[in-house]
Amino acid sequence: MRITDKLAARQTFSLEIFPPKGELPLEKAYEIAGEMAVDRPDWISVTYSAGGSGNSANTVPIAASIERDLGVTALAHLTCLGSTRADVDAYVAELAAAGVRNVLALRGDRRPGREERDFAHASDLIEHLRASGADLCIGAACYPEGHVESPSEEADFAGLYAKQEAGADYLVSQLFFDNEDFYRFRERCLRHRVRLPIVAGIMPFTSVSQIQRMAFNCGASIPARVVKRLVQAGDDPADQARAGVEYACEQLRDLAVNGVDGLHVYSMNKPAVAHAAHEALLACGYLGA
Ligand code: FAD
Repeated sequence: MRITDKLAARQTFSLEIFPPKGELPLEKAYEIAGEMAVDRPDWISVTYSAGGSGNSANTVPIAASIERDLGVTALAHLTCLGSTRADVDAYVAELAAAGVRNVLALRGDRRPGREERDFAHASDLIEHLRASGADLCIGAACYPEGHVESPSEEADFAGLYAKQEAGADYLVSQLFFDNEDFYRFRERCLRHRVRLPIVAGIMPFTSVSQIQRMAFNCGASIPARVVKRLVQAGDDPADQARAGVEYACEQLRDLAVNGVDGLHVYSMNKPAVAHAAHEALLACGYLGA
């Protein structure tokens, strides 16, 4: 089912997994997806990791299994930096053969060895996907605090507007720790003529080092109240992770009552995180029993 149809019908709840790295077997991903399906998400996203770990070949097989074996809608991510049009066409053919209709069109992060080839931006990828005539529902990324490379708000929203005009159907946000950033972003979208549905992305922090990495990689700011939570959790990794899930559930509950189009939890292969988010959203009435 197309994600836009779901977004038109109700406020959505979605989860995310990444293909296993290194020696982990593909079956592990199927197992994790199966555990997450218990929470009846509207879709499960499967990330795409070009180069480096080289596990991008597993994105479509995992997405296909989510659709076929679990009866849950899958959203396959795709990055385009370093890819040719032929690479993208081959991926689209793979998606069609696997019965996956939803794709999240991304540029990917700049890394040494990942030079620009046929695509400079996600909007170029979206344009190509639309021109291919493939029957795809296309999502794109957005950044409540601005993309790390953007020199200004104008540049950021020009990029976002380009995605909309190229044919994106909806947006999924980068993680953020202060909901006010998201609410301000929604308003600014309207001022900049970006009118697509926006799914808010929430990632529970799991440790001090992880949140520092996130802040640096995504440009997400860390509010003082998050720092306090981590300090109060002390040195025990389990306590830090628990504080992260609690904080994320508070964010989700607040977003739920503030009328978001959808909530996406960066559950990152952790079914326990998915279950906690599901519970919190059931308790506040965002999800029906
Ligand atoms: P773009 O839209 O190309 O934006 C990149 C920069 O260029 C921005 O500064 C933007 O303002 C600017 N820009 C955009 N369009 C134009 C234009 N037409 N002209 C001039 N400037 C422009 N990475 C992965 O590797 N794998 C994943 O699976 C993955 N999943 C993600 C899921 C979500 C929801 C999000 C938010 C991010 C994800 N990422 C993933 C990270 C993403 O690849 C990076 O954030 C990347 O740096 C930018 O991707 P983009 O699609 O937003 O790029």
